[in-house]
Amino acid sequence: MDWQKNVSLRHRNTFGLDSQTRYFAVADSTEELRSHLRRAIEEERKTFILGGGSNVVLPRDFDGVTISLGMRGVKVDSDPDRSRLRVVVQSGENWHSLVRLCMGKGIFGLENLALIPGNVGAAPIQNIGAYGVEVSEFVDFVEAMEVKTGRVVKLTNEECGFGYRDSVFKGELAGSLVVTAVGLSLHTRPRLVPDYPDLRAELERMGVTKPLPADVCEAVIRVRRRKLPDPRFVGNAGSFFKNPIVSDDVLKRLQELHTDVPCFKRASECKLAAAWLIDQCGWKGRRCGPVGVWKHHALVIVNHGRATSDDVLRLAASIKESVVARFGIELSVEPTIV
Ligand code: NAP
Repeated sequence: MDWQKNVSLRHRNTFGLDSQTRYFAVADSTEELRSHLRRAIEEERKTFILGGGSNVVLPRDFDGVTISLGMRGVKVDSDPDRSRLRVVVQSGENWHSLVRLCMGKGIFGLENLALIPGNVGAAPIQNIGAYGVEVSEFVDFVEAMEVKTGRVVKLTNEECGFGYRDSVFKGELAGSLVVTAVGLSLHTRPRLVPDYPDLRAELERMGVTKPLPADVCEAVIRVRRRKLPDPRFVGNAGSFFKNPIVSDDVLKRLQELHTDVPCFKRASECKLAAAWLIDQCGWKGRRCGPVGVWKHHALVIVNHGRATSDDVLRLAASIKESVVARFGIELSVEPTIV
């Protein structure tokens, strides 16, 4: 298996960060992935697994081998439960293309997750979510390769340890598995979740009173296009910070000082809107050299020019500091910092 030497990853990450990897390999099948991993172990080289490059902050230089996952294929199977269909997708498939394919075939559930950048393999890792729907609701199993042994294992939904934008792949199993395929259990009948205010407003604007799945999908696409920068023109990695989950006590303390703080109840805890916290600190639309905060969305850090990971991380640290100083809340970063 050939490895290319000294390859730029600038066009392989949606942030458009200047980054060079010492070695670059493509895995179009599990066999190829296995042999790249084996060679990396034999040569004692660090590995970095690259999917769609939409949720990573890449270093200026990576002194190891970057393995780009190119495994393609979507298989639709009937399910003994007639209201469901099993869709098994290889990790190199583009996420939004999968959403479109499902819509076209009358397979429902993924409408709210339209236009999320990146590949299918990354979806369970951060348990992608939008507008009140998370991919974990549909994950039947995740197939992954053990880095050390090359063995392919199958994890059930429970074994994936899904949480809010979180899973075992980011936690206890980080670095030890490579997701090769995802098995989804989707609906044959529509089940709409059109409740987020932005979504409702967009459907109204579209003149839709009784939405069909295609309407919800279209509304999500329109809102996202309006609020989020298109990485083809402005480099970014989507939301840079997670919404903090705080206890009722922390919320009470916060509300004594800031009566208007938006919060969403989750069991015994509350979710705060990180974008609101950042916006209150005056960051929205601000520019710091080659990076800045997107003018329409305070959660998104953008690359205005030839930014490096240092520029991004410096800005992120300043944002975090100001949110701590003003609200006493520690934000955590959503993308993977390599
Ligand atoms: P928004 O509608 O401006 O709302 C701000 C925040 O409030 C969101 O982060 C959302 O939390 C929360 N929220 C709003 N209405 C809610 C409700 N009815 N119940 C519970 N929580 C509610 O959000 P936005 O920033 O434009 O994003 C819209 C959706 O796309 C969100 O779900 C967001 O997570 C998702 N998104 C994801 C990424 C990514 O890269 N992962 C990037 C952009 C947007 P939640 O985030 O928990 O939904």
